[in-house]
Amino acid sequence: MSELVLTLAAAQGRSTGTWHAVELHRSPSELDGACEVAVCGALARIDVDVVWDGADEDACEACADLLY
Ligand SMILES: [Zn+2]
Repeated sequence: MSELVLTLAAAQGRSTGTWHAVELHRSPSELDGACEVAVCGALARIDVDVVWDGADEDACEACADLLY
């Protein structure tokens, strides 16, 4: 298992609906609904109920490229 997976949250872009990956630096309970800068540099709102999946069709390709 990769350590990266454990430190990532899923966040949805406001305008596009695309899911981005956000690196976690705080506990998930502090992050729900917060806007964070995604791995690719986009601003996105974290949803802690969603697991980041770079293979999902709605996932950000830039985030996936940078992580894998
Ligand atoms: Zn992204």
